[in-house]
Amino acid sequence: MTKDWKTRTRLVHEGSRRSQYGEMAEAIFLTQGFVYPTAESAEARFVKTGDDEFIYARYGNPTTRMFEERIAGLEGTEDAFATASGMAAVSGALMSLCRAGDHVVASRALFGSCLYILEEVMQRYGVKVTFVDGTDLAQWRAACAPGTKAVFFESMSNPTLELIDIKAVSEIAHAAGALVICDNVFATPIFSDAVAQGADVIVYSTTKHIDGQGRALGGVVCGTTDYIRKTLEPYMKHTGGSMSPFTSWIMLNGMATLDLRCRAMADSALKVAQALEGHPQITKVIYPGLASHPQHQLAMEQLGTGGTLVTFEVKGGKDGAFRMLNALEIAKISNNLGDAKTIATHPATTTHQRLPDDQKASLGITPGLVRLSVGLEDADDLIADLKQGLAAI
Ligand SMILES: *Cc1c(COP(=O)(O)O)cnc(C)c1O
Repeated sequence: MTKDWKTRTRLVHEGSRRSQYGEMAEAIFLTQGFVYPTAESAEARFVKTGDDEFIYARYGNPTTRMFEERIAGLEGTEDAFATASGMAAVSGALMSLCRAGDHVVASRALFGSCLYILEEVMQRYGVKVTFVDGTDLAQWRAACAPGTKAVFFESMSNPTLELIDIKAVSEIAHAAGALVICDNVFATPIFSDAVAQGADVIVYSTTKHIDGQGRALGGVVCGTTDYIRKTLEPYMKHTGGSMSPFTSWIMLNGMATLDLRCRAMADSALKVAQALEGHPQITKVIYPGLASHPQHQLAMEQLGTGGTLVTFEVKGGKDGAFRMLNALEIAKISNNLGDAKTIATHPATTTHQRLPDDQKASLGITPGLVRLSVGLEDADDLIADLKQGLAAI
């Protein structure tokens, strides 16, 4: 019904449902259940729920449904299922699909919890997982074999901002008959067109840019009706990882400003990256929007931007990084991303602390590395703050 709406219109209106009161703002249906007018209608609803009919909030809720339809419309998928967190979305997308004996290929540069699902949980249940260097197509080709059930990757990796060539990896995966599951958090639904590039299932932690104000945990899985309703939904609704109606309302409201926020943050991220490159206290700036990034060309083709995160390495290792972080006044030391507030993270001692040193080194997570999630503050203020932080090294 909303096929020819452009992104910003979809972000404000798509999926809206109004009660008989005609409320302007999306209503929060803070209810676990629904009342059936008759025993017969309860029986009928358990056989098959219609468009505006619900049974239990773990299965679906009107506020949550609005959010699911809005994100599916944005993403260009037939359907979506909202989850309690990004990790409920990642684990649900994989666990609902795979059974013992199946084979999955995944890129190695992953968010710590994603790595735990693939390295620990999946293998415990007899799923074989092959890890590859996600930027090396030859490794994907060698690892994907007929019978490979799925490939999994983060389209832009954390914290070193490596890109996966979604089109090329999807072709390799599809030739082997594998489903392509793309964790698209860093790329954002605004910049990424992962479905058009070949991904089958798109996963977001909505905790990040979609909320955008650091308020609530959430996740969502987008895909075909067949995958969402026949594979994912039975698993999610029975294992309990559904999104709460209150969270859905937060995410719906986050989406209204998502396009404006992501673009403003990416504009500032480019300015920050340019200002940091060549600074005497910095040994390396990693930002896909800079010509110095090894995948700059791919970033421009695949996303049209370098995104909202900038990673850089300061002189003086951990000590240098800590001195800089402790001197920052605007940027906050934390580990979320996609927030209106600029957030500085020291991956080696926080998000990636768990990894052994050799694994950190192979992922490029050096002691001096800092990840910056650029927020909505004035870019000149941010640059001045970072420069005074660097002066403290
Ligand atoms: C944050 C994040 C997740 C997990 O999301 P939660 O909402 O924290 O559960 C998964 N993948 C990526 C790439 C992330 O950044």
